[in-house]
Amino acid sequence: MEETARDAADRLEARLAAARAQRAALLRSTESLRAARGLSVDDDEHDPEGSTLSLDHAQQRALLASAERTVAELVAARQRLVEGTYGRCEACGGAIPAGRLVALPEARRCVPCLTVRAAR
Ligand SMILES: [Zn+2]
Repeated sequence: MEETARDAADRLEARLAAARAQRAALLRSTESLRAARGLSVDDDEHDPEGSTLSLDHAQQRALLASAERTVAELVAARQRLVEGTYGRCEACGGAIPAGRLVALPEARRCVPCLTVRAAR
């Protein structure tokens, strides 16, 4: 079975839909946490209380930030697919193995390049 650009596009779309759904769910629960604390939607930086609710809120924000990164990475990957650079390692220019792209469609680097970077 050969890996085609069509397969990659389908996979990216599916992941993107899932990531957007997750982000939307997190946004909703973040909103209800804010409502529970009686804060306006605009006031998200100032938190005078060190309550359990604000801890939940911090975790919620971290999850939301991570979901937003995933969405952004997937959108960027889709753009690379359009430009014809998808599946190419941005560090060494080599091909990222298909297995890695199946596991992580938004991968920008091959595993050896990731390892080198992490070791620094
Ligand atoms: Zn590489």
